[in-house]
Amino acid sequence: MSASGKLASLRLPPLPTVGELIKLYNLRAEKQLSQNFLLDLRLTDKIVRQAGNLMDAHVCEVGPGPGGLTRSILNSGAADLLVVEKDTRFIPGLKLLSEAAPGRLRIVHGDILTYRTDRGFPATVSKPWGGDPPNLHIIGNLPFSVSTPLIIKWLEDMANGTGPFVYGRTRLTLTFQKEVAERLTASTGSKQRSRLSVMAQYLCTVRNCFTIPGRAFVPKPEVDVGVVHFTPLVQPQIQQPFKLVEKVVRNIFQFRRKYCHKGVEKLFPEACRMELTQEMMQKADVDPTLRATELTISQFRALADAYAQLCSREPSLLSYEFREELRLKHLGRRRNSPTDALSST
Ligand code: SAM
Repeated sequence: MSASGKLASLRLPPLPTVGELIKLYNLRAEKQLSQNFLLDLRLTDKIVRQAGNLMDAHVCEVGPGPGGLTRSILNSGAADLLVVEKDTRFIPGLKLLSEAAPGRLRIVHGDILTYRTDRGFPATVSKPWGGDPPNLHIIGNLPFSVSTPLIIKWLEDMANGTGPFVYGRTRLTLTFQKEVAERLTASTGSKQRSRLSVMAQYLCTVRNCFTIPGRAFVPKPEVDVGVVHFTPLVQPQIQQPFKLVEKVVRNIFQFRRKYCHKGVEKLFPEACRMELTQEMMQKADVDPTLRATELTISQFRALADAYAQLCSREPSLLSYEFREELRLKHLGRRRNSPTDALSST
């Protein structure tokens, strides 16, 4: 059968529209769960196209809700779609979709933040990390309160080859608040350059696909939404443990408007701060008067490598946290203050 013939045979039969399903099951959007639905199937088709060719693909959709994006994924020829939905109210509507696409839709009632994606698909899906990505995609239009912690978790999984990346370089197509989408893809020197830009871009190719105006959602959120596509790199641009990279990047960005050496200083305890900062900047050969937003990924790599060298010479450095030291100092001061001494008696 030709590809277009196969695709036509996989298209869903006539069904109630997503809007009708919402009415049928009385699926009022829960403000608490930040539910904003996409009812326009041309728009959900456009999101799904960003993932690439889904013919015969395995897909995990996060937060299917009333199933608009789910229909587009099924219509694009996915062979096996696993949906993870937290809100029970959506399960009957999803079951209806599952009956319309026999054997192609698996429904999990659960929380994507704890769901074991590494167990969701057969091992035969796997592709070696150094080769092509597996025919497995993660797609989702999630609440912003979930999509940001989730991408941070998945970036760590990507670095460690865990979670959805036990199958290889699994691609992700996810929605974010427009500002977060811009931060994820911001280049060196841009106003939006942030910790998230460096953490995402050292591990993957990140593409800000398009912006969906808030008015396209029901109910309309306060902000516009960006669709972002991630393809893990075969070779991460920084070859150090994720936690170490995260620590260096976080410290440097805590003073984003100041010279980068200010943040580097805070990687070290006060007693050796000046001396080790100078040594780290020299080893990395990075101009200490550049600002966090002006540093390239290669400069972050040089800084992470230099920090790793210093830590292998003095392993206790790795557990040093400036903010923790500040917190303890602050606590100590409060304990010694006369008012606090009184209130604790
Ligand atoms: N995908 C649907 C659409 O585009 O119309 C619904 C989008 S709505 C913004 C987000 C969906 O994610 C809701 O159905 C909500 O119940 C679900 N959700 C929220 N948090 C979740 C979590 N931690 N795990 C799984 N689903 C979640």
